[in-house]
Amino acid sequence: MPELPEVETVRRGLIPAMEGRVIAAARVNRPDLRWPFPPRMAQRLTGARITRLGRRSKYLLADLSSGETLIVHLGMSGRMLVSGAVMGRFHHDHPAPAKHDHVVFDMEGGARVTFNDARRFGAMDLIETDRVEGHWLLAGLGPEPLGNAFHQDYLVERLRGRMTPIKAALLDQRVVAGLGNIYVCEALHRAGISPKRKAGRISAARIAELVPVIRTVLQEAIAAGGSSLRDYRQSDGELGYFQHDFRVYGREGQPCRTPGCCGTVTRIVQSGRSSFYCPQCQR
Ligand SMILES: [Zn+2]
Repeated sequence: MPELPEVETVRRGLIPAMEGRVIAAARVNRPDLRWPFPPRMAQRLTGARITRLGRRSKYLLADLSSGETLIVHLGMSGRMLVSGAVMGRFHHDHPAPAKHDHVVFDMEGGARVTFNDARRFGAMDLIETDRVEGHWLLAGLGPEPLGNAFHQDYLVERLRGRMTPIKAALLDQRVVAGLGNIYVCEALHRAGISPKRKAGRISAARIAELVPVIRTVLQEAIAAGGSSLRDYRQSDGELGYFQHDFRVYGREGQPCRTPGCCGTVTRIVQSGRSSFYCPQCQR
């Protein structure tokens, strides 16, 4: 499932094909993904110029010259493929239409962007650009973890007195937007905090330390995604999924990577989701 760094990588990969360009033709091959598409979506997109391709949490936001913004969520399995575009030295031929190609954007300049989503947990909607922050998918979101509103005093205050485990508190999108299971596990490991600790029982100093750790974990993943963008041009044009070395995520039974720690990465289930952590160095 794509998390914030993957979505940011998709955004950066789409910019050369989409930002500043007119959607020459949009094709919508089915009435819905997770929810119905907005009425006349293809007509509303066709002919519009994408003035800015932004991101809020795990949502891509394409501001259009028509005054609307296209909101895109990749869901569980959504993929963006770029073809036909000359990206630097590389060129991908348009692939044959595939099953689960649900929305296709033919851009002015020859690039084609295909949204493929086998499980259809993705979503797209259109809303007037000046109302986008109030869209029901975005309205309740907390600050961006890489933005200025996410700072140490904010997080300390937000978690004060909360008796939920710190893992669940950081996954709460109202506390901080876009953090998912993988990067919360990684951040807690680097901060040396057990995912089981009650948020309100952790000292303010240790909560404050989490802020730069979360930023670092996300920035490193975004950097890894950037490296994958340089590679994708040689592969099939698919954006957003990349190999990344995790310190705990998916490493159950393997040695902890904290220098000097002889612990073993352990998996527990919290709120129905796997938490990976080292019981030795995460307290
Ligand atoms: Zn350890």
